[in-house]
Amino acid sequence: MPHLYLHVPFCQRRCSYCDFSIAVRKRIPAREYVDAVLQELKLLGTTDPGRNPRETEAVGLDTLYLGGGTPSLLPAEAISVLLHELALRFRIPHSAFRTDVEVTLEANPEDVTSENARGWRNAGVNRVSLGAQSFNDGVLQWMHRSHDSARIGDAVRSLRAAGFDNISLDLIFALPAELERDWVRDLDLACSLRPAHLSLYGLTVEERTPLARWISRGAAAMPDDERYAEEYLLAHMRLAACGYQFYEVSNACRDGCRSRHNSAYWSGRAYRGLGPAAHSFDGRVRRWNLAGWEAYRRAVAAGLPAVEAEEVLTEEQRELERLYLALRTDAGLPRTACPPDRLTAWLGEGWVEVEGERVVCRPEGWLRLDALVHDLTSAGRAV
Ligand code: SF4
Repeated sequence: MPHLYLHVPFCQRRCSYCDFSIAVRKRIPAREYVDAVLQELKLLGTTDPGRNPRETEAVGLDTLYLGGGTPSLLPAEAISVLLHELALRFRIPHSAFRTDVEVTLEANPEDVTSENARGWRNAGVNRVSLGAQSFNDGVLQWMHRSHDSARIGDAVRSLRAAGFDNISLDLIFALPAELERDWVRDLDLACSLRPAHLSLYGLTVEERTPLARWISRGAAAMPDDERYAEEYLLAHMRLAACGYQFYEVSNACRDGCRSRHNSAYWSGRAYRGLGPAAHSFDGRVRRWNLAGWEAYRRAVAAGLPAVEAEEVLTEEQRELERLYLALRTDAGLPRTACPPDRLTAWLGEGWVEVEGERVVCRPEGWLRLDALVHDLTSAGRAV
């Protein structure tokens, strides 16, 4: 079943750590965005992500993910129009968005009003991923976020009142020491809201971000590896105690509420991305769209492909991806893919455990994922 990603590039300002492809706008060109994305889909000549673009047969939709940027800046009416059109093009009843298709909207807490939440729900959204990041107001200001901590709880309550029970919270850890962020307090406050899902990302310093500039002029310290490891392991303990299970290096859920969309990425399935900077993958070729909103909009308006470039993965690259994907989730590697001497060494270090015929990372293993994959590739083994 196909998986569709829509990149919504608009943000009202740039967060201090963010290097995503975004378009900072006071006024959100919602109508232009919806038209452009639908035009791109039409130009592809198919409604089946991952299939040959010349095919025209519609085959339904398994997951739809509106990511960004800040998709919650799109008015609910625009999302409604978009989903109605997608239902037509993928030849599914609109009611499928309520029942069968996982439809995720990334939202910033300040956009979650009762009215918006109801509007998104009526449009067919059934999962919301909320960019909480921290419950410390000083930290949120340092990050250039637009919300304060109180807004996160309000957002969760508004979403629940509108009928959303599949809510995910994003948190960022390994912040510079001078912020004196209390990570345990943030984890406990997140758990107290009982989200179905949590995504935890370690702070990284990307070029050309405000954070990189602060560090280069000595106004902020580099995040350090020791803090990263300490807070990552702490999160595993704390979340396990609250009933959450990590099913991927950065993602935990309760009651089996895994992200179906992201799980498709992690199991190497095909997906189609629409919108500026969106990526698509058909199992062999990865394509990505023009990153700038204006360049993208002009291209599709002129009837030109939005694709900027593509890479055909070699067998070696695909093998490397298979290893990464297998080890980053709780699916793990087949035991037969792990040379016995490596397995013995990894078990001895406490980096992995054996579950039936699979070798699965423990949190200590996820901390050194790159090194484990390197270890395997230098041993010359395949999945
Ligand atoms: S809201 Fe998200 S995408 Fe926009 S600038 Fe902040 S982190 Fe980046």
